[in-house]
Amino acid sequence: MPRKTVISGCLLRQFKKGEVEVVRTRITLACTECKRRNYNLTKEKKNHPERMEVRKYCPFCKKHTMHKETK
Ligand SMILES: [Zn+2]
Repeated sequence: MPRKTVISGCLLRQFKKGEVEVVRTRITLACTECKRRNYNLTKEKKNHPERMEVRKYCPFCKKHTMHKETK
């Protein structure tokens, strides 16, 4: 079993040789209407290499809005 370590917000899979593969990366989703950051989550880098856009509930707008990935 490869050892799993968290370095600077990224879950890395470490191999015996010292190779490191970024498995999941931590992202923040911000509401596109009020710009508030509502969601912190991790994403599979392989599945979503581009910026994510998800329709989620914003407690500040009190409705579902588009949430964009921010740094
Ligand atoms: Zn909002």
